[in-house]
Amino acid sequence: MAAVDASREFVYQRFSEFYRDHANAVPSPFLPEQREFGYLMFKERFMVRHRHYNSIEDFRKTLAQTIPSDVYHSCAYYENPDFDMDKKGWTGSDVVFDIDADHIPTKCNKIHDEFRCVKCGFQGRGITPESCPCCEATKFETKIWACDQCIESARDEVVKLLDMLEDDFGFSGHEMRVFFSGHRGYHLHLEAEAVRSLDAMARKEIVDYVTGLGLSVLDREAREEKAKRKRGSAKFNLHNYGWHRRLKMGMTDFIEHASKDSLQEAGLKNKALLENKDTIIKRAIKEGRWESVKGVSEATWLKLAEIVREEQAAKIDTVVTTDIHRLIRMNGTLHGKTGLKKVEFPARDILDFDPFRGAVAFKKGKVKVFVSDAPEFRMSGETLGPYKNEVRELPTAAAVLLICKRRAEVAP
Ligand SMILES: [Zn+2]
Ligand SMILES: [Zn+2]
Repeated sequence: MAAVDASREFVYQRFSEFYRDHANAVPSPFLPEQREFGYLMFKERFMVRHRHYNSIEDFRKTLAQTIPSDVYHSCAYYENPDFDMDKKGWTGSDVVFDIDADHIPTKCNKIHDEFRCVKCGFQGRGITPESCPCCEATKFETKIWACDQCIESARDEVVKLLDMLEDDFGFSGHEMRVFFSGHRGYHLHLEAEAVRSLDAMARKEIVDYVTGLGLSVLDREAREEKAKRKRGSAKFNLHNYGWHRRLKMGMTDFIEHASKDSLQEAGLKNKALLENKDTIIKRAIKEGRWESVKGVSEATWLKLAEIVREEQAAKIDTVVTTDIHRLIRMNGTLHGKTGLKKVEFPARDILDFDPFRGAVAFKKGKVKVFVSDAPEFRMSGETLGPYKNEVRELPTAAAVLLICKRRAEVAP
């Protein structure tokens, strides 16, 4: 127990140095005086909310005095940010997307993520369920890790999202702000005037679009309804923009790379898809003459399109985007589960930005820790681990990460 306390104290001291150093002054969000601020107390573990600051300087002073473990502000703008929720006077909100490995099924989360039901002790590996399959309780103790594969899968989702927001919605680069979350995901903030006043319903429409929900081209009923109105047949017609373009591109890519195995994996039994690939791509996918490919039914085309829809959909945490009162982690602050910072980087750098360099907060010093269990990981360009029940002298950032993840303690 003493070692745990000493370890928490060690992390607290590092957080404290961080927030007291003017070089780490947190960047101001847009219109800070209209935002609600909140933070989780490091030692007391309770959340302070509904705070209002007239200037970012005042908030920086609070950070230096209270040393929270996690810091948030509202996506929303209010007339009175410190009033009760229903009296705040909501005037608008940024549109925020949360892309986190927690919501993306990766091959690695079965390896490094564990959960245990607090009530009945049921445990498993992989994504933590909404409720316990044994007792339906919703509280879990989790042990999760952020590996390169997690970060990369989250990153791929951001790339898809950026593409849709830019190409389909027409947002420009400077309206889409991209952040590493400090743990194993990314945040994308849309701060354009045009979206600020959108209500929850309108935000749900955006969510449905980027997740490809309710694409009518895939829905037989919707197509038949449309055909009735236009007195045509229920055609599977794809044009050259938006989701239809994505479906065409994805289907082309699928056919180009199709093999016996890939068809089987996708649950497509039709071998005709492997013959005359060029004809299929040109006549069917490009020109929409689906019936010209012998031996492939409309149902098969629709199934293929459905597979592509699933692939192309951006896997966001949908609740975050529709919640117009949401608190979001503040740019430039530390993540209590890693000691890494939430940091902004240009959207065009998404493929090059390395969180284990760019989000590192503690760049000085080394510390001796006892590591119970840690996989191989990277920090500031150094590859460390794997470690198992051993004492190691590690760079501060690596030690803080392992302590925050309850995989190490400060060595006596
Ligand atoms: Zn349970
Ligand atoms: Zn992983």
